[in-house]
Amino acid sequence: MLEKIWAKISKDVAIDLGTANSLVYVRGEGIVISEPSVVAINQKTGQVLAIGEEAKKMVGRTPAHIVATRPMVEGVISDFEVTEQMLRYFIEKVHNRKFNLFLRPRVIVGIPCGVTEVEKKSVEDAAKNAGARQVFLIEQPMAAAIGARLPIQEAGGNLIVDIGGGTTEVAVISLGGIVLCKSLRIAGDRLDEDIINYSQERYKLLIGKSTAEKIKINIGSVYPLSQKKEMPMRGRNLITGLPEEVMITSEDVREALEKSTNQIVDAIKTTVEETPPELLADIMSKGIFLSGGGSLLRGLSTLITKRTKISTKIIDDPLTAVVRGAGIVIEDIDKLHDVLSDTEDLEPPK
Ligand code: ADP
Ligand code: MG
Repeated sequence: MLEKIWAKISKDVAIDLGTANSLVYVRGEGIVISEPSVVAINQKTGQVLAIGEEAKKMVGRTPAHIVATRPMVEGVISDFEVTEQMLRYFIEKVHNRKFNLFLRPRVIVGIPCGVTEVEKKSVEDAAKNAGARQVFLIEQPMAAAIGARLPIQEAGGNLIVDIGGGTTEVAVISLGGIVLCKSLRIAGDRLDEDIINYSQERYKLLIGKSTAEKIKINIGSVYPLSQKKEMPMRGRNLITGLPEEVMITSEDVREALEKSTNQIVDAIKTTVEETPPELLADIMSKGIFLSGGGSLLRGLSTLITKRTKISTKIIDDPLTAVVRGAGIVIEDIDKLHDVLSDTEDLEPPK
């Protein structure tokens, strides 16, 4: 009874705690926060100085004692305390800081598939310490599929690939459950590193992560473009130690990204090969669905179509699919409880 009243007045939230971006959905309201997963900390005092966009601007530009860190690496918590601080900031922000014990919300958090029980527990603990009354976990590809409104509850196969910053998740979903899932720690961040390594080897130029990401987004492709693109790339010459600018072309970038993009495509191919034939027949008619920021890389969906022989499309608004899907679940948690991730010691909803 008390729980019912609580459920009405507490603002339950769905959180996509991504390696690159974190989004928060409030029950009855929609997406209210979308910020980079970056936290700036004063190492002398341990104080959090900024979170999100503001903290991202500080990356690489701060005095030595201020560090801007990404608490999530390859989809899992790498810095527990910082993750907790970030979660607390989000939860308090949506509660207008009028946050008290009585209003502690229920929280659903998206996690990569294939994480260990220990990793699940650490997400759960971080959310509880940050003020959650009850924590539910959902596998990100499941949330993305729900966000994309795929018919996951029906007896039919759905293949969804979520390409984020830290992980690529390939999942086959049917009857509200994950039939098969592969999590690959190769995604957007790895592509940025590929560009950094390439520019060092090819141009002896040391560039930063955000420069590499800009190059990837502006001129990156996995397929020859009808019109070649190029852009200036600024960094430090490794031999002279002096700043330098060189032009990098879309062909350079394609060469740099080839190995990692092939690994992503191979993971999809292997999943297709392992899919039971009945479900595969459904997938062949429905196609493969891509979500996550990494799916926007030019030509990737074409490459996947070519290599798997299954038509591939990017879902609408791929960067928000996970939080929208988790949001749909938090709106109706009693009915949609089955799609949540199984955990050893999480309580069922009261
Ligand atoms: P996460 O869920 O891990 O936080 P997101 O789904 O938010 O990740 O996607 C972020 C990743 O998508 C980053 O690596 C970013 O560089 C990449 N990304 C965003 N837009 C594009 C684009 N247009 N082309 C290629 N990569 C992109
Ligand atoms: Mg994601």
